[in-house]
Amino acid sequence: MLVVMQQGAEEAQIQKVIDRLTEDGFDVHRSTGTIHTLLGGVGGKEQFDPALFEQMDGVKEVHRIVSPYKLAAKAFRPEGTVINVGGLEIGGNNIVTMAGPCSVENRDQIERSADIVAEGGAQVIRGGAFKPRSSPYSFQGLGEEGLQMMREAADRRGLKVISEVMDSTQITLLSTYADILQVGARNMQNFNLLRELSKIRKPIMLKRGPSATIEEWLLSAEYILAGGNYDLMLCERGIRTFETYTRNTFDVSAIPVVHKLSHLPIIADPSHGTGRRDQVPPMARAAVAAGADGLIMEVHHDPDHALSDGAQSMYPPQYWELMKQLRLIAAAVGRSI
Ligand code: PEP
Ligand code: MN
Repeated sequence: MLVVMQQGAEEAQIQKVIDRLTEDGFDVHRSTGTIHTLLGGVGGKEQFDPALFEQMDGVKEVHRIVSPYKLAAKAFRPEGTVINVGGLEIGGNNIVTMAGPCSVENRDQIERSADIVAEGGAQVIRGGAFKPRSSPYSFQGLGEEGLQMMREAADRRGLKVISEVMDSTQITLLSTYADILQVGARNMQNFNLLRELSKIRKPIMLKRGPSATIEEWLLSAEYILAGGNYDLMLCERGIRTFETYTRNTFDVSAIPVVHKLSHLPIIADPSHGTGRRDQVPPMARAAVAAGADGLIMEVHHDPDHALSDGAQSMYPPQYWELMKQLRLIAAAVGRSI
């Protein structure tokens, strides 16, 4: 930790900070510049609150040098994490694609969806059976029946399944039918759920909360890793900003930032990231160019009559065309799809 003292800070104030640092187990290195005195704290308590120092008399600012997450940090596994989902690798050279409707609606819809997904070449079908809807009056999902239908449709075409787990009572059920459990944006800081997911041995995709910083997101990842579940990928799905044209602001820059800070694979969700189907292909292309390890996208055989997220669901030909373009972009950045 680095404490920068204010210009003209008194010796007594500096000494008080040194004493407090020492009390917390830090080795203090003092350096007196022409304007500011800097106090470098080495070692010390792993968990400390910089704000405690910031409000001490004579302190200008405090910088944390060591990241507050350990297992999610790049240094923990500099070579990067590759997750094996029943033979499908996520985090390797191949960019994994996941596609499908927002929700499983009925058997006919999910069978058609599986055909569309497989024809485009995606390896994973997505579809929510438990839906986190903003309104309690909106379609809430088919539950187990939907999961069963999606599993059957996927198995017939050799696809893997990803679906959202909304609370810990659903973990066993979801694990029976899905290959990857998705933690939705609204649940990124549901720490009890994260703790329960850390105990199972199933791949998890942790979405970024709509108002979460990257550091908060990585701290949530830490909960899952700390319990011993290392089959974890992150998903950038847009954050809430002052912009109203798009549903969320898709943070493409989160992709290289996460790669710099963490070893965890990162998946891009341009569908929830933009909320509009015309914006999905450009952001999907951007995500692949930016280094995403995978994409998750909504596609529906009849988006205009979808029970959820129709406006952001691509028409099948749009998705097929996009997949062709993504292969070219992947090759240009030394990867494959
Ligand atoms: C979804 O994937 O359909 C979903 C609800 O996503 P998010 O949690 O990102 O809103
Ligand atoms: Mn959706």
